Amino acid sequence: MLSAGPLPAVTATARRHTQVKITGFEVVPFEVLVDRFGLGEPLPAHEVVQTLTRVLTDEGAEGYYLGGHFHGDQDGLLPGEQALITQFAGPLLAGRDPFDREYIWQQLWMSKLPENVVSVIDLALWDLAGRVTGLPVHKLLGGARDSVKAYASGVNSLGLPEDYAAHAAGCQRRGYRAYKIHNAIYWDPGTRRFAPPRPSHLDWDIETCRAVRAAVGDEMVLMYDPWGTYNTYDEALRVGRELERLGFYWYEQPMPEYRVESYVRLAAELTIPVCAPEIAEGGLYTRAEWILRRASDISRIDVLRGGITGAMKTAALCEAHGVRCELHMSGFGNLQVLGATSEDVCEYYERGLLGPGVDYDATPPYLQAPCDPLNADGFVTVPQGPGLGYELQWDYIDQHRLPPTEAEPVAPLHPR
Ligand code: MG
Repeated sequence: MLSAGPLPAVTATARRHTQVKITGFEVVPFEVLVDRFGLGEPLPAHEVVQTLTRVLTDEGAEGYYLGGHFHGDQDGLLPGEQALITQFAGPLLAGRDPFDREYIWQQLWMSKLPENVVSVIDLALWDLAGRVTGLPVHKLLGGARDSVKAYASGVNSLGLPEDYAAHAAGCQRRGYRAYKIHNAIYWDPGTRRFAPPRPSHLDWDIETCRAVRAAVGDEMVLMYDPWGTYNTYDEALRVGRELERLGFYWYEQPMPEYRVESYVRLAAELTIPVCAPEIAEGGLYTRAEWILRRASDISRIDVLRGGITGAMKTAALCEAHGVRCELHMSGFGNLQVLGATSEDVCEYYERGLLGPGVDYDATPPYLQAPCDPLNADGFVTVPQGPGLGYELQWDYIDQHRLPPTEAEPVAPLHPR
């Protein structure tokens, strides 16, 4: 039993933050030049819109989240998403204590806002809490580790099997101990041109998996992700059998995720762990149903499907059921979740997307330090700065700031 001695003095910071109130949100769009990989080849450097979401308070404390539309922290919010945050969530949450994250998460989940919009708000609130207390978010959650095993996550439609093999071998030389293949999507390896998503290129996909295994040997951990493009159970089963022969570690999102029964059958039939759902809506709640139905062997979540609050709930759900919970995508938010979870529950960090000609290790101009530096042993360090760990390059953001986005006014709250 704990002794009933005197409690430590409450710090000035702790006293102050209980009085802080949210006054609103601002979304700052700005331009950034990126080098990315397209269908089978590097794209010319081009401008994209990145966004910085900012939660504002009456005492001047702020929290931030970069991006939030699609992949990790790298894709800026669309105009309509920006408007939902500033025009809908802002007035809804004005006057609330920004430390009431659970209350806010429940209110926003009920609001039917898009999951990524709810998530961006939750992430900015976690960042604020970390900045106010001077702690990284994973320490606020309960620190578990300072570094995480990473796998190199290759872009889809990277090339012919020999191109994938060369890329995987290059990643192995770079220090990665694990590599994930995304298959040819919207690209026909035979013609090396754009192609519809169906039919799939199963023979090419299988050749790619064989070529990569041959290039990196048996020591490297390999995962395979056809991003739900196998539209039939038979296709998914055929590729899964080959992955078993090749000793792959997991088989990710092989089929569309709306037909859960197909996943129940596939997970029962294959010995390779099936990792899903990745993009099915419903966050924590959908994952709970999949676990109960044994529709996959490994569950999957990320911080844009319920924020850090939702990801931590999902990790706890998985831990209780003895199911691993693999984090989808790169980024500061996912790394903070990984820093607060055990490797027994959340094993890997997805680093990427990586492709030939893409300098993933370069620091984005709006940051002072990269998100996820890789060490020689194939681990990524969890950011140790306050909050999510951003060190923002404000000069760059201010100089490349775009005018506020013209978006349709958001309708007032009403049932839909
Ligand atoms: Mg995936």
